[in-house]
Amino acid sequence: MGYKEMVFRAIRLTLIPYFFREVIQKRKITIVLYHGLDPQLADEHFAMLNKLYNIIPLDDYLEARKTGGVRQLPPKSLIITFDDGHKSNYILLQVIKKYKIPVSIFLCSGIIDTNHQFWWNCPQLDHDEVETLKKCSYEERIKLLADRGFSGSAGLGDREALSHDEIAEMANVGLVNFQSHTVNHACLPRCSYEKASIEINKSKKDLEDGYGFEISALSYPNGDYSDRDIELVKQAGYECAITVDPGFNDELSDLFRLKRFCFSDSCNTDELIVKASGFWGFFRAFISGQSYGYQEASRKS
Ligand SMILES: [Zn+2]
Repeated sequence: MGYKEMVFRAIRLTLIPYFFREVIQKRKITIVLYHGLDPQLADEHFAMLNKLYNIIPLDDYLEARKTGGVRQLPPKSLIITFDDGHKSNYILLQVIKKYKIPVSIFLCSGIIDTNHQFWWNCPQLDHDEVETLKKCSYEERIKLLADRGFSGSAGLGDREALSHDEIAEMANVGLVNFQSHTVNHACLPRCSYEKASIEINKSKKDLEDGYGFEISALSYPNGDYSDRDIELVKQAGYECAITVDPGFNDELSDLFRLKRFCFSDSCNTDELIVKASGFWGFFRAFISGQSYGYQEASRKS
């Protein structure tokens, strides 16, 4: 067992996660985030989350917000989300059906059904470069990536995102709900007003016109957002938007700044339990002074 695994095992054994779950989290709505989860791990995770929480669709929470019925939602309600629309999400269908787990998958409408790679997987980039690029404007990012020999529009490499047919088949199951993650995974606060508006509006329209979905939610790429982006999301007709700011949600949460806890796609059950309880997110934010995704918008017109 490595150091990280030992830390999560130790925290789990303190029963702090149990306390968080049964006391703090009990009447809250928890949203969790995955990206490209492996099916075998998904089986373990979904079994555990199913045991500890009441997994509900995002729509149930949105509906309850409209009717004032959030307190009637089951205790320890938990919403599972996936960002980016990775093609590996398709092979989770068997596990999703097995546990009858509702999930929401947030798609980049300009990347799905293409051979465009997710630019952050560009093999020429190391972790630090990816983190830097995530915070660039769209134009800066395209230029820097082109300089490194990666062109997201060239359709290079194997397909990384879900295809049209896979999305349609998953949507048919009834447990999988698709929502928007912008067109190109843009860092919205770093976009010009026009670019941010296109990213937010076009992705909704693409997914509604191309797939017949009702798009009511947007997940901010990298969890980055500004007041301007919130306004654009509201104007575009979304009912809510989801951040990666750590925290729980309730009947008073700002619907355009919903909070969410992230899991790494390789985390084991100890880490899952500690992170799902919210303890880890709060602890990290407290210790590191980790900034949330809220930013000033780019002043470029
Ligand atoms: Zn993303």
